Amino acid sequence: MDQLLDAAIIGGGPAGLNAALVLGRARKNVIVIDEGLPRNRVTHESHGFLTRDGIKPDEFRRIAVEQIGAYPSVRFVADIAIEIAGADGDFKIATKKGDSYRAKKLLFAVGKKDRLPEIEGLIDVYGKSAFVCPYCDGWELRDRELAVIAKGEHIFHYAKTIHGWSDRISLFTNGPHELTDAQREELHVRNIPLHDGRICRIVSENGMVSRVELEDGLSVPCAGIFSRRRWWPAPTCPKRSAVS
Ligand SMILES: Cc1cc2nc3c(=O)[nH]c(=O)nc-3n(C[C@H](O)[C@H](O)[C@H](O)COP(=O)(O)OP(=O)(O)OC[C@H]3O[C@@H](n4cnc5c(N)ncnc54)[C@H](O)[C@@H]3O)c2cc1C
Repeated sequence: MDQLLDAAIIGGGPAGLNAALVLGRARKNVIVIDEGLPRNRVTHESHGFLTRDGIKPDEFRRIAVEQIGAYPSVRFVADIAIEIAGADGDFKIATKKGDSYRAKKLLFAVGKKDRLPEIEGLIDVYGKSAFVCPYCDGWELRDRELAVIAKGEHIFHYAKTIHGWSDRISLFTNGPHELTDAQREELHVRNIPLHDGRICRIVSENGMVSRVELEDGLSVPCAGIFSRRRWWPAPTCPKRSAVS
């Protein structure tokens, strides 16, 4: 607790690790506090990052930690930051394990948590054959039969975007939707069936989806899912204390 570090980085995913690398190279005394629950831990491969296309997230992390290990002023701790006090120039960070640190600067790299729609079976396929971002995982599912599950005002754009990877897609709104007549017509022209019934379950085996079943009895085959949902700040975001 006594040493006043140059910076404390809360979160050791790609963002926090990259910051640690740059600050280590700048000879700053830095601590990285990481709970170890990166957002992409559910997936086997990460795509679209130049020189690392298709890398396993664990391998990405291993290389990152190894490279940062060359900079002795950076330290990692496996812990959760639970409370922040103080102010710019002298922050105090309390952790779940009961330790505390002081740092001139704080860097929040806590990431986001995904909140999936509450659909039976979706959790079993998430990160294996169900994804969020077509730019990350669309290539692996190109030209396959895809189910797009989405709600809200952006569903039309989301469905059109995914159509770029496959022209065999079906759109599921899992209940009432706000699509305009013109948007429905465009879906029709693009040959994208619209299902607005409630989804009953996702059928899969070993993480690979095979069907989306609706409460009305309809069963639609598919080999992959893209599901648009909300992102939430990491729930372990430390609370700010007024006490310094
Ligand atoms: C299914 C899926 C597939 C994806 N595929 C790709 C892909 O192919 N290509 C791509 O570029 N991106 C992909 N992403 C997105 C990618 O995972 C994120 O962009 C990336 O993880 C963001 O990095 P980050 O460092 O901001 O957050 P994260 O990787 O989430 O890291 C945040 C870290 O902070 C920790 N943390 C949070 N709160 C605290 C706290 N209070 N104290 C200590 N530690 C804390 C967490 O445990 C975690 O380890 C995918 C995401 C998902 C969900």
